[in-house]
Amino acid sequence: MARQTARHPIDLHMHSSMSDGTLSPRRLVAEAARRGVRAIALTDHDTTAGLAEARAAGARLGVRVLAGIELSAWIGREVHILGYFVDPNHPGLMAVTERQRTGRERRARAICAKLGELGMPLDPEPIIAGAEGNVGRPHIAAAMIAAGYARNNQEVFDTWLGNQGPANVPIERLSAAEAIDVIHAAGGVAVLAHPGVDDFSAEVPTLVEAGLDGIEILHPAHGGDAIDRFRALARQHDLIQTGGSDFHRPESPVKIGHFGVDDGTLAAMLARRPRDAGAPGGVR
Ligand SMILES: [Zn+2]
Ligand SMILES: [Zn+2]
Repeated sequence: MARQTARHPIDLHMHSSMSDGTLSPRRLVAEAARRGVRAIALTDHDTTAGLAEARAAGARLGVRVLAGIELSAWIGREVHILGYFVDPNHPGLMAVTERQRTGRERRARAICAKLGELGMPLDPEPIIAGAEGNVGRPHIAAAMIAAGYARNNQEVFDTWLGNQGPANVPIERLSAAEAIDVIHAAGGVAVLAHPGVDDFSAEVPTLVEAGLDGIEILHPAHGGDAIDRFRALARQHDLIQTGGSDFHRPESPVKIGHFGVDDGTLAAMLARRPRDAGAPGGVR
């Protein structure tokens, strides 16, 4: 099929089947090539596992694949921080992604241990296995009801698993400052993802204080108001203005290349990489 001309030849935000996208890294790159996109950043949630496959496909298809990640972090509520040009093998970054991957399971085991101490033994392993990688308190509540420890969810959460309940264990959270730090340690540039989705204007100064490098301005969920507001904030705080399609699946009306950046912005991002980290002379 003939290549199309992309609206944006560089798209800095997309997900593969390594997180919650539906295309494998290889097929994602093929889709970018088909749409005439010259460069992409693969920004899977809390993992860089798709990078090697995407790069191999990119080398074949003439698409430059930049290392990326979208870290789920916490700043009083969940915030997403994009990391660009990170070294996927950096030990600090690998430790964080491993922690993100296993945190929910560790919490489920800790809650079950507490329930055991309270005289309500539960084996966490079948609960974890049944939750398909996303175990949470509702899964444990269902197991408690099935075991006859409580009559319904209301009772479980009112008596045991509510935030102040005796069997609750708070979820381990990566703070936004920690996310920015680990991105920098891995040689990357930290960008606030889609801040207009759930207005993060008020948090921008704190994130800047923590070392934020950029704000994602062009994103499918941003209307003109959000774009204007965050462009002004970016100028005020000397932040790079990035963009990407946040592509997840081909059925979506938003395609790779519908949102992105130009060569000048990419050059500015590369220039913003921390000097003391990273591979000499190379673009990761
Ligand atoms: Zn996100
Ligand atoms: Zn995303």
